[in-house]
Amino acid sequence: MTVRAPRNCPEEDPGSGLSRMETLLQCTGPATRSVVLMRRAGERLGLERTVIDELISPQEIVVFRLPCKILGRVILFWGVMVLHSNARGPYKGGIRLAADVDVWETAELARLMTLKTAATDIGFGGGKTGIRVDMAEMYRTFGRTARDRDFEKIITLDVVEYFASAYRDMFSKHIYIPAPDLSTGPDEMAFIYNETGDPASVTGKPEGTHGWLPGRRESTGYGCAFAALQVLERVLHRDVQGSRIAIQGFGNVGQPLATYLSDCGARIVGVTDAFGGTYSEDGLDIPSLVGHAARTGTVAGFGETPLTQEALLQLDVDVLIPAAVGHVIHKGNAGKIRARAVVEAANMPTTMDAMAILEQRGIAVIPDILANAGGVIASMEEYSHSLSARKVAPEEVFQMIRSRIGENLDLAMNLSSELGITLTEAAIQLAVERVYQVMVRRRYI
Ligand code: NAD
Repeated sequence: MTVRAPRNCPEEDPGSGLSRMETLLQCTGPATRSVVLMRRAGERLGLERTVIDELISPQEIVVFRLPCKILGRVILFWGVMVLHSNARGPYKGGIRLAADVDVWETAELARLMTLKTAATDIGFGGGKTGIRVDMAEMYRTFGRTARDRDFEKIITLDVVEYFASAYRDMFSKHIYIPAPDLSTGPDEMAFIYNETGDPASVTGKPEGTHGWLPGRRESTGYGCAFAALQVLERVLHRDVQGSRIAIQGFGNVGQPLATYLSDCGARIVGVTDAFGGTYSEDGLDIPSLVGHAARTGTVAGFGETPLTQEALLQLDVDVLIPAAVGHVIHKGNAGKIRARAVVEAANMPTTMDAMAILEQRGIAVIPDILANAGGVIASMEEYSHSLSARKVAPEEVFQMIRSRIGENLDLAMNLSSELGITLTEAAIQLAVERVYQVMVRRRYI
């Protein structure tokens, strides 16, 4: 069995006698955005280096090979489950299916979940699963050419079902409570529930399922919209009516986000997804765009004016909201961004280099650990209501999202002005301090 080396891991050295797995064990994790910012936060808090290392390091990394029987053929997928911290509660984090999943990126995303649950003061820890599913390769493997969303659904459901079967005990015992992420949604979460038979073992379950939460599906987008409204009002001192917004990504997060902002009177002038984009100076008709995306699987082809990814990032808008994938705002394009503020709806859409450039240019950034925490806040509600069978009104969930994001944004804004640090650094410092305190109380350190 061979292990494909993750990014930042040295290639196998044939002369060393080490397998790729051993090479992986010996390599050091990269100095990613959260590693650097957690270290800085720990130093500001006066923590010892070894303690900071403990806060940064995942508690467990499981690299697995998942054999799945799909449409009569056995396909093997690589996956990685990173259990970063359970100091403040069970490991919590989504399942991502993507072609470029790697160990260190998954570790970074798991660490981000620990920071997110701590920054919003939720009784969960942080974890993440990534499974390398390359849809283009699947089309080639099965000899298909035309895009077929039913075919893609078969693949994602099968992969998640096999994954749920392999790790059922972990979910049933509430050691790790998964949720949706890139390319997974309520349908896939239903398969995990089917496997465990326990409604509290997974969040993001579909409507009507025992323990589902009205409002959960829209929760991340709703929280991002709330964060955008906060930045318009409190940072840009701009009325939402007629404000200009650009959104990258039109999936679980992007669609409700665009809908709420547009309902509040904002003009969503540009939207892109993996297949293309669309622009309207007067603001896109979001309900029609949602309908178009449901019919065609993309925002491309909607309206009169197509929009490229690069053009979207450079639009003259009040708020730019990356809601697709990570690292889209980087050293190469941060200088060209014309938005007054960035709301990080995706996880880590801004690289460290880009963060410094945006800060220098006076562009406010609402960090992912606050901006996109709506989903995990709703997951907290879903988890706690899972066994009660009482139906919760979506407004209760949205109220909880507003209060958790709002209160912790206040704390981060105050800390940011008190210490003269960015909002991102301040939010991370709040989170690090909360995790550290519980680790001490539980004698983890
Ligand atoms: P999704 O798969 O439902 O949608 C992703 C969207 O991004 C799609 O419109 C897709 O076409 C587009 N996209 C993919 N690659 C792209 C690219 N290279 N350029 C432009 N667009 C691209 O995913 P989602 O659940 O909406 O998640 C989006 C982001 O939000 C991810 O970074 C995810 O980690 C983060 N996030 C999601 C949740 C959640 O509850 N779903 C919670 C917190 C954070």
